[in-house]
Amino acid sequence: MPSDTSPRQLQLLQLEPTGTRRLPAREVLVEKAAALARSLSHELGVPVRLSVTDNRSTMVSFRRAPAALRLRLHHMFLDAPAPVVRAVADYAGRGHRRAGRLLDEFVRREQPRIRQHRDAGDEALSPRGQTYDLREIFERLNESHFQGGVRASIGWGRSPGRRRRKSIRLGVYDHQTREIRLHPALDQPAVPRFFVEFIVFHEMLHQVFPSSHFPGRRTHHPRAFRDREKAFPQYAAALRWERDNLRVLLAR
Ligand SMILES: [Zn+2]
Repeated sequence: MPSDTSPRQLQLLQLEPTGTRRLPAREVLVEKAAALARSLSHELGVPVRLSVTDNRSTMVSFRRAPAALRLRLHHMFLDAPAPVVRAVADYAGRGHRRAGRLLDEFVRREQPRIRQHRDAGDEALSPRGQTYDLREIFERLNESHFQGGVRASIGWGRSPGRRRRKSIRLGVYDHQTREIRLHPALDQPAVPRFFVEFIVFHEMLHQVFPSSHFPGRRTHHPRAFRDREKAFPQYAAALRWERDNLRVLLAR
């Protein structure tokens, strides 16, 4: 008698404890994960070993082993509608790259609904620095380059302290929280205003041109992003300034 629980279809669930605060109640999670593993397994005709994660950057990863498909999915997929589950099967189980597009759309749609939390010790973003007011810069850029369409909060990041700095990220955009942070080293008169504007502009573009979350389609700065970035009025000057001054900036 065919049954979803026959030995060949056995699903092993591994639930990862990281970030449990953000996950729904454990029993619900286990039940949903079992159901999802079952339908994927059914769809593909192979055992599926499903791990549910709370990873912020990789929503889907998988490995096709001869005996089973090992799949790691963000917990948002536990409530995914049938077409999305099918796309997971197509993408991870059958190697259909094009299914990744549907998954991307799903992630983009769901992300804002995931409960946002800050790690203890995270403060609210403060846009007003000693030299530059990032909110004001953001608003002006939004007006002049994006028809006011970018919605994000912005602020100065915390000083990294006395750690040795080999490289720094001058700015970062978080898709989940819609936050832009700039490195505090940029908040000084020695850094020209157009350079700070350029970094803010760059991070704003990340909202407009999101990068793909899926292996094989990952492009942090898609072509359209790069083209648009070049439209920044002082693009060449900003790159030149970065090349000539970044080292000095870091040494401070
Ligand atoms: Zn970037």
